[in-house]
Amino acid sequence: MAAFTIRDAKRLSHAYILSSPDREACLALAEEIAAAAVCQRETDAPCGQCRACRKARSGNHPDIIHIRRQTDSKGQPRRELLVEQIRQMAADAYVLPNEAARKVYIVDDADKMNPAAQNAALKTLEEPPAGVIFLLCVENAGLLLPTVRSRCVELRTNGEAAEEDEGAVKLARSFLKLVARGDEAELCRWCIQNDRLDKGEATAFFDSLSQQLGAMLCDQADNLGLERGRLWALRKLAETCSAWLQVNVGIRQVFGLLAVDALAGHGNRG
Ligand SMILES: [Zn+2]
Repeated sequence: MAAFTIRDAKRLSHAYILSSPDREACLALAEEIAAAAVCQRETDAPCGQCRACRKARSGNHPDIIHIRRQTDSKGQPRRELLVEQIRQMAADAYVLPNEAARKVYIVDDADKMNPAAQNAALKTLEEPPAGVIFLLCVENAGLLLPTVRSRCVELRTNGEAAEEDEGAVKLARSFLKLVARGDEAELCRWCIQNDRLDKGEATAFFDSLSQQLGAMLCDQADNLGLERGRLWALRKLAETCSAWLQVNVGIRQVFGLLAVDALAGHGNRG
């Protein structure tokens, strides 16, 4: 995995979903983001050298907290993460960090939260305490409630990334460039041009769009000058469109919504 660095740790979002078919890769990325969050340098973090980074790397940083499934009497992990564990995490999140500027919770197997646990998590994700970052590590983000997903920036690590559809990536990029330019006419033309995609292609496009916006939101890709509020709004829009596609709303209508809403927030959110 490529080393994770973030230009400005202050720009980290408050919640991420890290998904990968490879649990170890997922946890490794979570550890890097956590290290960036507690690193004393804050720019191009984690530096890997300060006291905080060293503690983070050795698993001894008091402000990086792991939530894992409990084990049963036979020492096997329980099937689910329990709602009590999530409530405890939520309460603990209000306690100020010990050493670092931030506090990070790494929730391993977050897709093993049952709906009650997810709803408990949702309350905290909706109104997160300042300076707290939640990293939800999952194999299958599809098992999380849409309401939980909409509160988090999703990042995929190796495995899935390799399957990315190159055409969809380019298409999403060209769309984002038009949005950044604020060129309404061009954007409408773009949407009309592409409303003949089939469902698979359109789904890949919206997936890629969400991914790219996620990467922009955590400073891992050029944000094309788009403000954070707009990035969030666009990501929500991509997810709404994607959900509509899944319930078989016509592609033409979905792209129509995309064309109208992509620029709707321009100005008042920007
Ligand atoms: Zn450091």
